[in-house]
Amino acid sequence: MAPFDLAPFDLVVRGDLVLPDRVVPGGYVAVRAGRVAALGEGAAPPASEVADHSGMLVFPGLVDGHMHTSSSTGWPGIAGATCSAAAGGVTTVVDMPYDVPRPVTDARVLAEKVAHVRRLAHVDVALYGTLRKDGNVEDIAGLVEGGVCSFKLSTYEYDAVRFPRIDHPTMLRAFAEIAGHGLMVAVHNEDQELVVRLTEQARAAGETHPIMHARTRPPITETMADLAIFEMALETGCHVHIAHSSLARGFELAAQFRGQGAKASGEACIQYLCMTEEDLVRLEGFGKCNPPFRSAAEVERMWGAVARGLVAYVSTDHAPWPRERKAYAGDIFAVGAGLTGLQSFAPLMLTLLEERGLPVTLMASLCAERPARFHGLFPKKGAIRLGADADFCVMERGRFAFDARDIRDREDARWSPYDGRGTRGRVAAAYLRGRRLWDGRDVLAKPGDGEFVPRQHRETFLG
Ligand SMILES: [Zn+2]
Repeated sequence: MAPFDLAPFDLVVRGDLVLPDRVVPGGYVAVRAGRVAALGEGAAPPASEVADHSGMLVFPGLVDGHMHTSSSTGWPGIAGATCSAAAGGVTTVVDMPYDVPRPVTDARVLAEKVAHVRRLAHVDVALYGTLRKDGNVEDIAGLVEGGVCSFKLSTYEYDAVRFPRIDHPTMLRAFAEIAGHGLMVAVHNEDQELVVRLTEQARAAGETHPIMHARTRPPITETMADLAIFEMALETGCHVHIAHSSLARGFELAAQFRGQGAKASGEACIQYLCMTEEDLVRLEGFGKCNPPFRSAAEVERMWGAVARGLVAYVSTDHAPWPRERKAYAGDIFAVGAGLTGLQSFAPLMLTLLEERGLPVTLMASLCAERPARFHGLFPKKGAIRLGADADFCVMERGRFAFDARDIRDREDARWSPYDGRGTRGRVAAAYLRGRRLWDGRDVLAKPGDGEFVPRQHRETFLG
């Protein structure tokens, strides 16, 4: 227990503290100037304010290492997505760069986006940078200087401007440059030629129903891309990370390449830990994401990869497309790919762990500490420890159901693939730098309460 100063603390939060390796029952965290200043168990020190969450789990504020605020609405989307994050106990989001109308491809665009974050964000925001299709590698240094925590590139083209495919020669040059700065590059991993050919064949045969989304993006379309990016990781020394593996094999490949000296890693999104092709058929467009949901057997293999410590972290890939872009009207290929997930993240992760009899500490690790470490935001973010930002996600255990109508985002983003799903807990409160963001009913944070969080250091973390 840390010795107390004479002056009382600003805030004491009481509850069962979830640390990366253990739960401290009947614990407290004391906050001064927005940071964790003391923690322990038993009698808490004096404070100006006491938040008594006794009997509840106090997690570190979750860190979503992969989400999209601005793919459909542009930077105004930062406000709604981060509001829903606040209601979900996600206190730091790492936002993807594929924004309309301009992706984050140089220091000037980055500075503009940072200004929007400072004006609009309800939670803290770290940012990815990316490149234009023409391969403006010379702008990487400026993006690093401006504070991006990581880069994102793609092997698959959704849009030549917003989300381009970067060809292999350009990727090699980019990886070599990024390696020199010590940052991680996450890569969207789907093989363009295979997906395009399979989709053309399906369309030609008039096969456009929901399951065809999964059939035209079979596992090999992912693993071919995984192999290509990891070969380039080995060649360049760059830390290359699969932005989302829906397959246990992706994590096994990363481990094999690490064994050969590559800086290789990969993340799972929470949907790949619980959703299956049957859910795609049931949800139609509202279950469409890339990579697609896999089989129930693959979900089990994914949990095996989690158990073996192969998964870098778990993210949401939250992409709040307007409802009309998700509605299936006979052609699954016409529907936008992406799911909402920020507000359901904490309740669903807690539920999946409890249903499987796994410790809740895994949530603190996979959904807070590890993403913060991979993105160079630790120890400021990611764990309840002395000196860290006083960010907390307080969970009340019980039997609840996730209700999409409760999503705190614009009206047409209030849909969820998890609507009606039973959960073992709910987010009862959330705190950002010692300020209450969410009280279990209302978002108390205002636009602009969130800050831009630059990368804190250049150390590589591989787990
Ligand atoms: Zn994504």
